[in-house]
Amino acid sequence: MRAVVGVFKSALRATNYAAVGRVGRLARPPQLRKFGAAASSPACWNCDRKSVLKQHMICSDCGHLQDVDAAINYFELLNFPTNFNLEGQQLTQRFRQLQTLVHPDKFSNKTSREQINSADWSSLINKAYKTLATPIERGQYLLQLEGQQMPQDNSALNKEFLMAMMERNEEVEEAQDSAALAELNSQIVRELEAMTKQLGSQFEAKDLAGVKGTLVEMKYLLSIQASIKQKQQSLLGS
Ligand SMILES: [Zn+2]
Repeated sequence: MRAVVGVFKSALRATNYAAVGRVGRLARPPQLRKFGAAASSPACWNCDRKSVLKQHMICSDCGHLQDVDAAINYFELLNFPTNFNLEGQQLTQRFRQLQTLVHPDKFSNKTSREQINSADWSSLINKAYKTLATPIERGQYLLQLEGQQMPQDNSALNKEFLMAMMERNEEVEEAQDSAALAELNSQIVRELEAMTKQLGSQFEAKDLAGVKGTLVEMKYLLSIQASIKQKQQSLLGS
């Protein structure tokens, strides 16, 4: 039993979230801006005017692509309100629009600064999209914007939940064929969907302790899902 908990703990650490990593060539760790904090953008590096930026990236006076703003709020970048609930299709649509706007091919004849900037923006937009597209990552990111971190241990979980998870893990170990594994997996998918809804209400109610508990539980389910997948692959291979 201790061994099983150990496996979960390392799963928890392995997926531990670091949304605010280094971006492009920036050496300083970016500081996240809080909700609603106005972005005071520096003057345009090309025309030196403090113009409004189009899509947070492009000088509206001279049209030059600005340096990447690694501290930008991912929701703002993708033109969404900073809320947990968002529409997946709309997110993908906006992601594609932004990627088209900064696509490196468009800058191959431009200044080298813009070429660098287009690559930097492109990778930041990718990262923002990946973060917002996955409920668990979106939840952790939002928690971070609220100035909170994920717990590093099991303290947010109750014994019943841990016991139930160990049973689930045993069920995976004992499953004999891929149909049984698929059934276990679809159960988890349903639970994760319900938890995603729960996260939405918890964020709305500013119940951040509840949010943390739900996120940790989701991570456990994801780790079980990973072992289901692993076992399915080994069944296919044999
Ligand atoms: Zn300009």
